[in-house]
Amino acid sequence: MISVEEAQRRILGCVQVLEPEEKPILDCLGQVLATDIHSPIDIPPLDNSAMDGYAVQAEDTCGAGSSSPIVLTVVGEVAAGSIPDREVKAGTAIRIMTGAPLPKGADAVVQFEDTDEATRKARRNSSPRIGILRQAEKGLNVRHKGEDIAKGTLVLEEGRVLRPAEIGVLASLGHSRTKVIRRPVIAVLATGDELVDIDQPLPPGRIYNSNTYTIAAQVLRYGGTPKILGIGRDSVQSLNERIAEGLNADMLITSGGVSLGDYDMVKNVLAKRGEITLWTVRMKPGKPSAFGVLSSKEDGREKRVPHLGLPGNPVSSMVAFEQFARPAILKMMGKKNFAKPTIQALIEDGVENTDGRRVYTRVIVTRRGGQYYARPTGPQGSGILTSMAKANGLAVIPENSKGVKAGDAVQVQMLDWSEDQLPEE
Ligand code: AMP
Ligand code: MG
Repeated sequence: MISVEEAQRRILGCVQVLEPEEKPILDCLGQVLATDIHSPIDIPPLDNSAMDGYAVQAEDTCGAGSSSPIVLTVVGEVAAGSIPDREVKAGTAIRIMTGAPLPKGADAVVQFEDTDEATRKARRNSSPRIGILRQAEKGLNVRHKGEDIAKGTLVLEEGRVLRPAEIGVLASLGHSRTKVIRRPVIAVLATGDELVDIDQPLPPGRIYNSNTYTIAAQVLRYGGTPKILGIGRDSVQSLNERIAEGLNADMLITSGGVSLGDYDMVKNVLAKRGEITLWTVRMKPGKPSAFGVLSSKEDGREKRVPHLGLPGNPVSSMVAFEQFARPAILKMMGKKNFAKPTIQALIEDGVENTDGRRVYTRVIVTRRGGQYYARPTGPQGSGILTSMAKANGLAVIPENSKGVKAGDAVQVQMLDWSEDQLPEE
């Protein structure tokens, strides 16, 4: 048996970071920037107002207060997006909107609430004057040219993962397209004579193929593009045909056919195209997995396609995907952090560990009084997919332990942080 970490190490050793592509920024969400981004402009481009108010010379407001207004002459108005055509001179002010460039001569903005504008309006006083009700220090409510991003600076480094904020920063620089590491195409092949396509009637004794869809959804969640190869039958010819279709992908994931009874055939088919090793990994569920590298020719060049063979049981397939396929996809996408987000929680039921493997127990994590609690989601059979649907985390019960008892602290790999799965307390 090999450890989970050893299996991860071997898999990561066989996958490479993919090449960059250029595309519209909104298509890049979650991808890794493949170039440094320097700013061609200052942001903001000019000194401008952070408030709706009056642009003034700070000196003019010396001694102003709510009971001692200082009255200035209003010589104009400037809206966001326009360039002021007047200057603020001593004794004058210009009405200014948020984001509008600061007029020449002004060095502060007094917001409407600190003027008597409302009272003047109520009295229908249309004289071009304004009473200032507070003393303004220089720079009050002024946003300075380049204070967010100065022209020429390095704004985003190669390797950054693009989230909504980074996409906004790219937009603020006027970049409509950018370069990111491309998404891996992951071919997904289910195997088994018992499987039926989900758009077909279900004959007696058969089951629907669910693994293709959980695996493809996991691929999407972690940023890959699934390429669904359908169902391979338990025959050499069927498997051969299907696998051939997966060889132009960046990785092939199969499900089923890795338990001892079935393995010979999958192994025989795959061994003709490359290497394949059946692994028994010190984990539960997900002990039998297979990993290899298939060879194919693309444009006359040899291409090596990593192949991960996940167990057929639906929960084993999902858990093994999280531990093995997820880091491989993240690496191909140029990401550096492969660890699942993990928290410490108190487990609410005991979990036995009978054979020294690392047990991943499906749990629902809740937070009460500043403490996380993890409650197992019922029967933990590796065919019970609904126990996975009820879970938002996998509690990790260490290998070589006898298990944990209720109240013990455990590490929990979070499957989601979303509130959607949390039960009402
Ligand atoms: P295997 O690893 O092929 O021996 O399959 C183990 C168990 O998982 C069997 O009960 C299979 O019926 C089930 N299984 C295999 N593939 C799938 C699939 N694609 N969807 C749902 N269940 C599956
Ligand atoms: Mg099978």
